[in-house]
Amino acid sequence: MARTMRAVEITKPGTPFKLVEKPIPDAGRGQVRIAVEACGVCHSDAFVKEGQFPGVVYPRVPGHEVVGRVDAIGEGVTTWKPGQRVGVGWHGGHCGVCEACRSGDFILCENGLICGFSYDGGYAEYMVAPQEALAAVPDSLDSVAAAPLLCAGVTIALELGAHEYIDTDKGDAAAALQRLGGARVILATAPSAQLTGKLVDGLARNGTLVILGATPEPIQVSPLQLIGKRRRIQGWPSGTAKDSEETLAFSALSGVASRNEVFPLEKAEDAYQRMMSNKARFRVVIQLRS
Ligand SMILES: [Zn+2]
Ligand SMILES: [Zn+2]
Repeated sequence: MARTMRAVEITKPGTPFKLVEKPIPDAGRGQVRIAVEACGVCHSDAFVKEGQFPGVVYPRVPGHEVVGRVDAIGEGVTTWKPGQRVGVGWHGGHCGVCEACRSGDFILCENGLICGFSYDGGYAEYMVAPQEALAAVPDSLDSVAAAPLLCAGVTIALELGAHEYIDTDKGDAAAALQRLGGARVILATAPSAQLTGKLVDGLARNGTLVILGATPEPIQVSPLQLIGKRRRIQGWPSGTAKDSEETLAFSALSGVASRNEVFPLEKAEDAYQRMMSNKARFRVVIQLRS
């Protein structure tokens, strides 16, 4: 086997992606090496590219929506076998011994790792991840279709099963939601603090705005928007490997799949710009092996 691989990395914050040849990493104790088949291009990759996330060491290979096959296992790995198809999402590992982990709340681990941030991710032919970060991928799911489910989940477009579609660019979305009776829950997936703040007015009595779209900008909401209808705003981190596994199983069972535009590894910069342009329908995925 070739001892080197192709990977796309960010050499330093604010620079374009760079295609490099680097050594294939070894799986250490408790780790699994994955031969990557597909990796979703996520808006959160911008944190790594633009240097907006604390603690990232460069150069760094991004990518936290990874699907591939187990290629090698390190010492002490008992759950996974070479050849098995697996995925890694945002949650890239946990310590198992901190206060959050001892409460079973692994996603909030105080020493938690993020795939493609804390260690090299899926914009590469091979990557290594801790065993607890892996989710099993059902045989019936295509790797390209499965990749975005590891972080982004699915969109809500009409033809994908939604009953109503409200375009936030065309008029007042909060007023439109109120005409429908107000929303019990709004899942804010778009990384726009400005939009998120306005949507609070679309909540019904006791409604909750759940924020998934990560952005460093502050959200402006007045106490008056919240108090009168006892509304609340809650953040929600991405899921653990077990949550990813359930999402993938649901996708296989229900036929709800992601829709993607596919790019090769050497076009990672184009893939990223396409995702940032908001024109992609709906997700951008880098395919490494078919
Ligand atoms: Zn993501
Ligand atoms: Zn922990």
